[in-house]
Amino acid sequence: MKNLIFIAPPASGKGTQSNLLANKYNYEHISTGDLLRKEIDLKTKLGLIIKDNLSKGEQVSDNIISKILENRLTSIKKSFILDGYPRNITQVKILEKMLKRLNKKIEIIIYLNVSKAEASNRALNRLICPICNKTYQKNTDIVKPKVEGMCDICNIALVKRTDDTKETFNLRYQNFIEKTKPLLDYYQNKGMLHIINKTKTPSETFSEIEKVIK
Ligand code: ADP
Repeated sequence: MKNLIFIAPPASGKGTQSNLLANKYNYEHISTGDLLRKEIDLKTKLGLIIKDNLSKGEQVSDNIISKILENRLTSIKKSFILDGYPRNITQVKILEKMLKRLNKKIEIIIYLNVSKAEASNRALNRLICPICNKTYQKNTDIVKPKVEGMCDICNIALVKRTDDTKETFNLRYQNFIEKTKPLLDYYQNKGMLHIINKTKTPSETFSEIEKVIK
């Protein structure tokens, strides 16, 4: 399979789609948000800085996130999905150099086109498993946990992400519009961009994505 990047507004479902792809096509799912949350859990000095950024809805510095990402990418032997990186044009340039160094290639960019209202609704209703990071939605039957408030896989209480508040979501969304959305033009010009418009269910979105990667 070809390596791919997901670009989408915060809480738009790229994590869910990445997991579906990883399960069906054996991709490695690399979520920079998850890598950062792992660093926070380690309670290192770096973790404290990252925790502060995330709780305010700020982007982590390009330097820090790029080093963490390169560490992870170095050990990857199979096809991978990049979820959450690049988020600005500096990261695009860093990524290009990194891929050259690691002798890897990314050929597909998928943009999930989800409206602000939809993404905000998903962020505010999102619950996450603190162990496996699987996400659920409180308010829709499709992605509700089988037992209310519990992870289907780990059987542990689900939690809310600290950055899934209205205020922090608005900041993250604004960052997306100002810094990340302009990358679509860049990848469009390179002929790498595929746009998936909003569908009714995660499995409909997944079918659209499958058409792109096959
Ligand atoms: P979402 O897609 O809902 O914004 P993520 O889990 O992808 O959530 O990211 C959570 C947070 O981690 C972001 O709001 C940001 O603070 C930080 N982050 C993730 N990836 C990057 C990145 N590439 N550059 C800078 N900060 C990042």
